[in-house]
Amino acid sequence: MKKPINIFWFRRDLRLDDNVGFYEALKSDHPVLPIFIFDSEILDELPINDARVTFIYETLQKMRTKLQENYDSSIAMFHGKPMDIYKKLSNAYEIHSVYTNHDYEPYASERDNNIKEVLAKHNITFNTYKDQVIFEKDEVVKKDGNPYMVYTPYMRVWKALFRLQGIETYDSISNFKNLIKDSQLPNLNLSEIGFEISNQKIADYSVTPSLIKQYEDTRNFPAQDSTSRLGPHLRFGTVSVRKMVKKAIAEENEIFWQELIWREFFMQILWHFPHTVKASFKSKYDRIEWRNNEAEFKLWCEGKTGYPLVDAGMRQLNETGFMHNRVRMLVGSFLCKHLLIDWRWGEAYFAEKLHDYDMSSNIGNWQWVAGSGVDAAPYFRIFNPTSQIQKFDKNHEYLKKWVPDYQELTYPLPMVDHKMARERCLKIYKEAVS
Ligand code: FAD
Repeated sequence: MKKPINIFWFRRDLRLDDNVGFYEALKSDHPVLPIFIFDSEILDELPINDARVTFIYETLQKMRTKLQENYDSSIAMFHGKPMDIYKKLSNAYEIHSVYTNHDYEPYASERDNNIKEVLAKHNITFNTYKDQVIFEKDEVVKKDGNPYMVYTPYMRVWKALFRLQGIETYDSISNFKNLIKDSQLPNLNLSEIGFEISNQKIADYSVTPSLIKQYEDTRNFPAQDSTSRLGPHLRFGTVSVRKMVKKAIAEENEIFWQELIWREFFMQILWHFPHTVKASFKSKYDRIEWRNNEAEFKLWCEGKTGYPLVDAGMRQLNETGFMHNRVRMLVGSFLCKHLLIDWRWGEAYFAEKLHDYDMSSNIGNWQWVAGSGVDAAPYFRIFNPTSQIQKFDKNHEYLKKWVPDYQELTYPLPMVDHKMARERCLKIYKEAVS
């Protein structure tokens, strides 16, 4: 008879330490088989040289090596539909329980519910834990139980609750003796899952005390490249959010801390209002008559609008998979307001290109720039793409880096007149929302 095991399923939590679900699995009564599934439902949508897939793959290989060399164990790698993989696993092993961490995105929560149901029929429990946020779902809500739709009161209650509760750490490593003893668990090549190594690399993050201390003074200037680059690491869980919040607090930088709270604000919004993946949060914004001109959209995507700061941002995104937040706000506003192109087009383009793409933050921020979201920029706030240069890139350092041709004759003329576009936007928005 096979001996019972437990499974730990890695997803958006690619780290061995301070991982809540992994820690709970390792404390259980049965040996733990760690697994990762390259979910074909997700991968089929991505280009073959996607940098995020390379990053996930390489991170898992490092984790496997660490477990093989130090603990005579590993991580079993699979490719396919999760339900099919579980069927195979349940034939190969006597599974007692599956452990994993919560994933709040609509596709993931539906997938997890289905898997939980099927496993239950075989008397296998599906245990999931909060790991990627400090507060989830409806933990920070108004007194009447309704979600906050304005950031500042949400942030205040978040902080108050946090002060009451503090942060726990989850020492998975000291329980590694409970890992399944098998260093030859199945592996995969990138090519076996239909991908190749990307030539873009996901940047390392930096949360040094000096970066956090200076964050407030430097974060708005794209040429300084002085933000943490934590985005993809929080997205894929290569860092623990609990450790990052601790660092922010240790350096007493409220602003940096508050950025991490913006992330959770948008996560709870998506959880409470999953329809906002496709629909405007404020439904009357779906009455806007977008122009949706494909040729203009292409110029925006390629960074050829003739507005140097917009073009710099788009070229940075296309070349590196990153764009500075200040410039994201400008290019987003330019697309929705100057060009009157639906925020969903911009959201989809960012989803394809951004290394730190995260559904809740991307949708939340796109709806913020379009004016249609919670706590959004008012529709009549239209960034001037020229005066933004004076404010945030006075010495043109960012422009020179990303649009070196901006003063040459070959550089395109502005694709749209600012004054005309501003007035057109105000008219179209007003007709829809007032
Ligand atoms: P830092 O400035 O060092 O901030 C630290 C962390 O705080 C970030 O990594 C992120 O997790 C969080 N954070 C900071 N600002 C925000 C914000 N406005 N909203 C939510 N979380 C925030 N961020 C994403 O993580 N994924 C996205 O897909 C995404 N899409 C965006 C789309 C638009 C149109 C705009 C205007 C912003 C978007 N952002 C997104 C928010 C923000 O631009 C990035 O989080 C930030 O630029 C990432 O760089 P960093 O990691 O160096 O951030």
